[in-house]
Amino acid sequence: MQAAATLKLSIQQEAFVVDIPRIFNITESAHRIHNPFTPEKFAALGRALRLEPGTRVLDLGSGSGEMLCTWARDFKIFGTGIDMSQLFSGQAKLRAEELGVADRVEFIHGDAAGYVADEKVDVAACVGATWIGGGVAGTIELLEKSLRTGGVILIGEPYWLQLPPTEDVAKGCQVGSISDYLTLPELLASFGEMDYEVVEMVLADREGWDRYEAAKWLTMRRWLEANPDDELAKDVRAKLTSEPERYARYTREYMGWGVFALMAR
Ligand code: SAH
Repeated sequence: MQAAATLKLSIQQEAFVVDIPRIFNITESAHRIHNPFTPEKFAALGRALRLEPGTRVLDLGSGSGEMLCTWARDFKIFGTGIDMSQLFSGQAKLRAEELGVADRVEFIHGDAAGYVADEKVDVAACVGATWIGGGVAGTIELLEKSLRTGGVILIGEPYWLQLPPTEDVAKGCQVGSISDYLTLPELLASFGEMDYEVVEMVLADREGWDRYEAAKWLTMRRWLEANPDDELAKDVRAKLTSEPERYARYTREYMGWGVFALMAR
């Protein structure tokens, strides 16, 4: 009786394990970096920040852990990452072992909304997942709670490379509305309005965008071959058909992306 009740409870818990929408776990399953950044850009960012050995870094929405793992290897940082994708956080742990840094980085599977570190960190990051704090301002407020005085906040965020002439063009970029993002000068100014100084930035380039977007196509193709009868097969097939042209016409032309390093005034 009790065993049955326990079993039922554990099945229920299993069913309610948090995760991101399955489509992202499919299309980005082979990505190490879930952003228009390349390994070189993360290395450039680490150098730009002049990371010292022993620096403590918190990363909300850490994906497959590439930033923390390579920084642990190259700059000897300590890192904690939180990500809601079971697949990506599992991949992050494997990557840490592969790079021999499993003793320096920790990956937690869970919702990072409201996450505050027990011990204050030197660098608090959210790189391409600012919906976690309800937008850039809310995410900065959340990261502040884990940050030591004088620490650095990293925000990875899209911006308009050129302003879409119509709302339809914004929709083509898979953005709800033109007003959802700013141009680069406006974005930089907005940090100032939140009483932060922008002390560094590294911007993605088109090569990085191509790596992020085009890598999804081969992943989708292979997934379709392996999962022809899956309930999402029709959607993934449609996406694979439309994505290359949509990306080239809209996102590639109109969207920029960068990581901004901020310090409180
Ligand atoms: N920073 C990583 C991943 C960016 S993609 C990189 O640069 O590679 C956005 C990430 O946010 C995904 O890994 C997704 O699983 C994660 N995510 C989405 N909602 C989340 C939430 N509420 N809490 C934690 N992670 C979340």
